[in-house]
Amino acid sequence: MRCEDILGKFLELDNGENLPRKLRQHIQKCSSCKSEIERWQGLFSSFADEDTFEIEVDFSDKIMVEISNLPVKTSSLAFLSPTKWIAIGIFILASILTVGNSDAFIWLNWHFGRNLQIPLYTVMGFVMSGYIALCTGFHLDEIKELAEIYRERI
Ligand SMILES: [Zn+2]
Repeated sequence: MRCEDILGKFLELDNGENLPRKLRQHIQKCSSCKSEIERWQGLFSSFADEDTFEIEVDFSDKIMVEISNLPVKTSSLAFLSPTKWIAIGIFILASILTVGNSDAFIWLNWHFGRNLQIPLYTVMGFVMSGYIALCTGFHLDEIKELAEIYRERI
């Protein structure tokens, strides 16, 4: 058996299995293979001596409690109070209602005709719908709580 094959054959053995006769014969003659095998055997026996690592029974519960206590990162828009959201919504609605009387819009109508009104109000409608969707999305928990309170009253 060649020196290059010895370590591979040794590592193929299962735990606690005796060395095959050919391997034993080789390491009796070859000091470098003998020291290499002894080094590996020492390493394996040091692993065997280690106490097994046991996880506490409620370890996963502790982790879940830690996770639930972590601060929740929220978007910067969520910090706007509902009052500010409503105020901004009223501003957008007031803009939609008054844009038809603005000087700029009257000037645009004078130059391009009355065909601008439909696309303008369509775009403003999309803006308002998007704003309402964002407001609802950022305050979903509060809306759910209000719905629960309303449901309990009925
Ligand atoms: Zn050897």
